[in-house]
Amino acid sequence: MEVFKFGGASVKDAKGVRNFLSVLQSLEVKDVLIVISAMGKMTNAFENIVRNFFKSKDKALKNLEDAKLFHLRILEDLEFSKADQIYTEIDTIFSELEAFMSVNNSTDYDYVYDQIVGHGEFLSTRICSAFLRLNSFDHQWLDVRKCIKTNSDFRRARVNWEATDKLIKDNVAIEGITITQGFLGSDNFGRTTTLGREGSDYSAGIFAYCLDVKEVSIFKDVPGVLNADPREFDRTRLIERMSYKEAIEMAFYGASVIHPKTLQPLQRKDIPLKVRSFLDPRLTGTLIHNGEDIVPRMPCFIVKKEQILISISDREFHFVMEEDISDIFGLLHQFKMKVNLIQNSALNFSVCVENNFNNFSALLKALEPKYKVKYNEGLTLYTIRHFAERDIRGIELNREVLLKQRSREAVQVIVK
Ligand code: ASP
Ligand code: MG
Repeated sequence: MEVFKFGGASVKDAKGVRNFLSVLQSLEVKDVLIVISAMGKMTNAFENIVRNFFKSKDKALKNLEDAKLFHLRILEDLEFSKADQIYTEIDTIFSELEAFMSVNNSTDYDYVYDQIVGHGEFLSTRICSAFLRLNSFDHQWLDVRKCIKTNSDFRRARVNWEATDKLIKDNVAIEGITITQGFLGSDNFGRTTTLGREGSDYSAGIFAYCLDVKEVSIFKDVPGVLNADPREFDRTRLIERMSYKEAIEMAFYGASVIHPKTLQPLQRKDIPLKVRSFLDPRLTGTLIHNGEDIVPRMPCFIVKKEQILISISDREFHFVMEEDISDIFGLLHQFKMKVNLIQNSALNFSVCVENNFNNFSALLKALEPKYKVKYNEGLTLYTIRHFAERDIRGIELNREVLLKQRSREAVQVIVK
């Protein structure tokens, strides 16, 4: 058995849904569990509905109408007959949502979020399933909430592995094709929970682990994992194979490879993961497995923009000591600054941070009474793994380098 995951981009319109069927046909799949996420940018659209729900229910209901039209348009483009049961299925989902929104007065944002946003996945899996049915493609549709059990920490629910393992083994047919939703689970009271944005890859990992599958495939709009972001670099290369550890390292430095959370269960059971193209599913893509770090060996470039380099020293020219560092880190944590690099010398402690929560000025206010603080904003941090000297020169060319740090496998350069 294997697990497939199709992301929102792969089923963003009727063409995508048609392509979904041809991928399954061309690969002649037999026993597979397929995880699908919400169509296109629907999760963002539903997030917007939630925001409006707390401001103006009328506006939220209007947004809901738009979301419905989006899905109905796809049904039309797929040329379903008006009598097809998919129309009733979609109507039911939207009526339920409308009822929830009209009656519910909860002030718990995260709870409401999970009850509303998760419907994107029900809509997409219903539509994909109906399209397979229309084309006499044998399969089953499964409500993932029957299988993935979580705690009640809405929007970032944690999996109850023991319960989930049992439910998956009890509810998933190991033969044939099953379609289910990514991103979702349910708590002990049967309420819908979500696993965090981009959680569908993780869902695929959970099923793969519990079903002990042969391999997992994540279908994307790129041929696999590339050694650099094509939006930043002219020439990129496909990585043919990499180890779990390498993929986790790259994600740590900020590459949008595969979330470590997805890799952990796979690594534990040594289940290989393929990242492959939904446009050309016959290509092998990238294999992430228990093997060599990276094949072929090549430099991998990761770029992070909008970085701030803060340099902190003692007002009296004392050394920056352990207790200062602990104090500084306490503040970085308190103000939720994402730390991407650290360097210290006798008199200076430098950190490269990301101001994701707009707390930078508050942080400065807290640091300045105790330390001398200098900083530079709007910088770019380049990380190169498996570098050669000429790769570093390429990055440094025509740029002002503010800080450089290297280890055996990675070099990091902060430039203006
Ligand atoms: N639909 C969810 C999101 O966009 C989950 C996923 O796609 O992985 O975050
Ligand atoms: Mg998505």
